Amino acid sequence: MNLILMGLPGAGKGTQAERIVDQFGFPHISTGDMFRQAIKDGTELGKKAKSFMDRGGLVPDEVTIGIVRERLGKDDCKEGFLLDGFPRTVLQAEALDAILAENNGEIDAVLYIDVNPENLLNRLTGRRVCANCGATYHLVYNPPKKEGVCDKCGGPLIQRADDRKETVHERLQVNIKQQQPLVSFYEKKHVLKKINGEQPIDEVFQDISSILGAMAK
Ligand code: ADP
Ligand code: ADP
Ligand code: ZN
Repeated sequence: MNLILMGLPGAGKGTQAERIVDQFGFPHISTGDMFRQAIKDGTELGKKAKSFMDRGGLVPDEVTIGIVRERLGKDDCKEGFLLDGFPRTVLQAEALDAILAENNGEIDAVLYIDVNPENLLNRLTGRRVCANCGATYHLVYNPPKKEGVCDKCGGPLIQRADDRKETVHERLQVNIKQQQPLVSFYEKKHVLKKINGEQPIDEVFQDISSILGAMAK
């Protein structure tokens, strides 16, 4: 299955992606994670992306489409994939369709995790991620067993630079504006599946599992 996870920053895409990957085995392709890794590695791509990310804006389409095209070409994507954080613009969505069409492929479903923007500020400022493996936690809603330490790998938990109070508001505004045309784009194709993301993490995952289970039949 070729899947896209959509939702505003903090809606729970990363959290649900971890569970979807564990249960269904699709490769998880997060453009945000790929950019953060490139910055860590000090690559040319990382340098380019950093200037845009630090300001809370989007990395240019041609850069982003380039890395996704390369990633989708890898062998592990042949049976399907889970895109997270891409596409973010209609131009990216059209480019994605074109990339998939080269192999007679298409998007099977867009899982849209729906959360009221008012509830996202707390989620973002309380988010902590493992510096080692990228696993996602929340100080209140999803705390690790031991404070500051990743349950999965023992790595240290840190706050992302763009999750600080000062940048979160701007990032949300940018995303709200950009998301609407994409939602319409996928609604028109009848592949958008809305999921109530205000529920506890396990219940959101149950809803996603039922949708994917029904599609696999
Ligand atoms: P995204 O990848 O969409 O930006 P994350 O999965 O990183 O979102 O989740 C943002 C924060 O909210 C994290 O700290 C996560 O632990 C927490 N979170 C995720 N889903 C829920 C939920 N259903 N209820 C409460 N908190 C959640
Ligand atoms: P979140 O999980 O909070 O929504 P991401 O981790 O997906 O944020 O993305 C972090 C940053 O990486 C974005 O603010 C943006 O600068 C850049 N980025 C990620 N995906 C894309 C994309 N598809 N197009 C342009 N920029 C992107
Ligand atoms: Zn970890």
